[in-house]
Amino acid sequence: MANPKKKMSRCRTHRRRSLWKMSPPSVIRCPQCHEWTLPHRVCPSCGYYDGEVVLTIKEEK
Ligand SMILES: [Zn+2]
Repeated sequence: MANPKKKMSRCRTHRRRSLWKMSPPSVIRCPQCHEWTLPHRVCPSCGYYDGEVVLTIKEEK
């Protein structure tokens, strides 16, 4: 039977959950405009990804 051998203590469960929250959010600097963006994503402020314009962002008037 796929069951845990021992009941996990409340302390251990809480510790694991708190550790998950400890992991820092992965953000990178855009090489084009040096804004903070998520990795493997098109930059929302300049529309560049991998040195090419992927999105054309309309400039505010
Ligand atoms: Zn950018």
